[in-house]
Amino acid sequence: MLIDSHCHIQHCFTDRSDFDRGVKLISSSMLYIIDISTNAREFLNMKNRQLPSNILLSFGLYPEEAPSFNQEKGLEFSTFIAERKVKAVGECGIDYYRNYGTHFQQETLFRKQIETSMDYDLPLIVHTRNAFEDTYRILSSYKFSRNVIIHCFGYSATEAGKFLAEGYYLSFAGNVTYPGAKGIRDAVLTVPTDRLLIETDSPYLPPVPLRGQRNNPLNVKYTYKFISELRKTAQEELENSIESNFKKVFGL
Ligand SMILES: [Zn+2]
Repeated sequence: MLIDSHCHIQHCFTDRSDFDRGVKLISSSMLYIIDISTNAREFLNMKNRQLPSNILLSFGLYPEEAPSFNQEKGLEFSTFIAERKVKAVGECGIDYYRNYGTHFQQETLFRKQIETSMDYDLPLIVHTRNAFEDTYRILSSYKFSRNVIIHCFGYSATEAGKFLAEGYYLSFAGNVTYPGAKGIRDAVLTVPTDRLLIETDSPYLPPVPLRGQRNNPLNVKYTYKFISELRKTAQEELENSIESNFKKVFGL
């Protein structure tokens, strides 16, 4: 059975009944998914819902939150994490593609969440875009006892090697199937079987052949198939290794 290690399920469906149908189908046909909330409003919307037990939550403040982040919001964040409704902290990280606030503001917000993940002994889900150097510098300044997942890996084999040397897991999304993504495909070939995860990042990044559509976790099957062909691994074997990596990372 398939696992989607990163999606934003509240944005995958058009309305409440579509959402309820989608959740039911996902829960019955997939092994696990991790749903990511990227701000307090989204997390409040998810945390008190009656969700099936294989839909797991993570909460992080997206780099977009960096310019307005302050002590009060930091306290609110820690309070939510302390409720122990999440399996991970994130996604959080550094994004210089969109330049949210200053680099210093992004780093401050990222470090706050790294430290919260350590305080609560939770894995960390990292977003990094056009910012390898700073993401690597910040992460490698910590000694993690829990796992770090670089989500939607978007760099090349060189950067993959550096993250892997730190012991992190790399998670690949539907963009690995895009014609222009040679660097990402080169990278996925270098990842040891026991350090690989697969995700949709839905509703974003629909894999080929669904480009242009709203993505959802069920479409992770296209990315599994693509990666199993690329790595010349039987799909069943890939599913088994992803399952064991996922359970190890999230302590299941
Ligand atoms: Zn995401």
